[in-house]
Amino acid sequence: MRKPIIAANWKMNKTIDEAKLFIREIVGKVPKAEKMDTVVCAPALFLDALVKEAAGSDVHIGAQNMHDQESGAFTGEISPVALKDLGVTYVILGHSERRQLFGETDEFVHNKVRAAFDHDLVPIVCVGETLEEREADQTEKIVREQVEKDLEGLSEQEVQRTVIAYEPIWAIGTGKSSSAEDANMVCAYIRRVLAEKFGSKTAEAVRIQYGGSVKPANIEGFMAQSDIDGALVGGASLESESFLQLLEAGQHV
Ligand code: PGA
Repeated sequence: MRKPIIAANWKMNKTIDEAKLFIREIVGKVPKAEKMDTVVCAPALFLDALVKEAAGSDVHIGAQNMHDQESGAFTGEISPVALKDLGVTYVILGHSERRQLFGETDEFVHNKVRAAFDHDLVPIVCVGETLEEREADQTEKIVREQVEKDLEGLSEQEVQRTVIAYEPIWAIGTGKSSSAEDANMVCAYIRRVLAEKFGSKTAEAVRIQYGGSVKPANIEGFMAQSDIDGALVGGASLESESFLQLLEAGQHV
């Protein structure tokens, strides 16, 4: 059985006070760690304070991006060593906003995934197609390419620990989510690709999230699907009440 994992992706939102208050409001109210993994991926500036707020609770703190190198002349970048040192446990890698707005390639994402494991961070690797690609029937080709390139060379154990977030780009922040059945078809396809590359035992262990306009009203439909093990949530994760509703709905499926 794969343990469900629901992650908030705050993107570039909140002040430090708002961020700390959110964690205070959810600590003690999230599902027990044996039942579900709860992750809050916050702006890098808040990670130190939020790890301290969440200490001893069932809330994991994640970053939204990092560089693949440990240190050096990379002005403005975030080191995996520094994240680990702060007590961060997860890191979103290859989010479509990073790929589209900041030109991140699969090669770069691959190097970051490697670096995440080298520093004992769990990567949440985002894949997904644009609307044009979907309309041109390219969804499977696109996600296959991303999964193959981003996870290339990982050991079976590393792949098993990887979280994949399938996020169709046209569904992100648009209010237009994929249907649960369509999302499940793509997640099942991703699992088949993983089975081809890493064997079926490994593929069965990988947790695959759906992301793209997930909200309390539709999360159950996604979580009830055979190949969807969680959600990566942007807009609906910004208010603690809404995030707690997502966790509550997600654990009763
Ligand atoms: P959304 O964002 O829930 O606001 O659509 C999801 C994401 O970008 O991870």
